[in-house]
Amino acid sequence: MIEIQLHHKYYGVPRYIYGHSSRGRKPSPETIEKNRAAASTPEAIERMRAVGKANAGRKHTPEVVKKYRARNIGTKNGMWRGGVSLEEYPREFNEALRQQIRERDGNVCQCCGRTREEERQNLAVHHIDHNKENCADDNLITLCINCNGKANGNALNRHMYMRVFQQKLTKLYGYKYN
Ligand SMILES: [Zn+2]
Repeated sequence: MIEIQLHHKYYGVPRYIYGHSSRGRKPSPETIEKNRAAASTPEAIERMRAVGKANAGRKHTPEVVKKYRARNIGTKNGMWRGGVSLEEYPREFNEALRQQIRERDGNVCQCCGRTREEERQNLAVHHIDHNKENCADDNLITLCINCNGKANGNALNRHMYMRVFQQKLTKLYGYKYN
């Protein structure tokens, strides 16, 4: 039977969704006392020691490690920079240069027009030709995180975005491209 309670002190997911689940339900003082007594018998202590020994020095399998890592990638990770890692950039691509490009572009995404204020963080500075070693002004453009992700997408998109951004900067600042 599914129990529906209109008033209960737990705020998360309503308990009735879980039916018989004991999720979030506090054991009674009697139950706590019973568990404590059961856990402190010599047999229980010996059993716990045995489990500890069996697990000692055990490493996660590669699959498990992969699973943990996967959980930590993408937007959930605070270091996420729209699909690129910072280590790959040359030294000259520093914060001062990025700031200079953002200011040149008015702190506005040159693809969709989103502003720094709307984005609530510094906008990305994108390498137009996707060569991270090429940090010339005419190869750098300010993008929001979303557009930066799209521009770094599949090979077909990359080429299309490169042409679009080059044309944009030629129009704005007179840069010449081959
Ligand atoms: Zn954008």
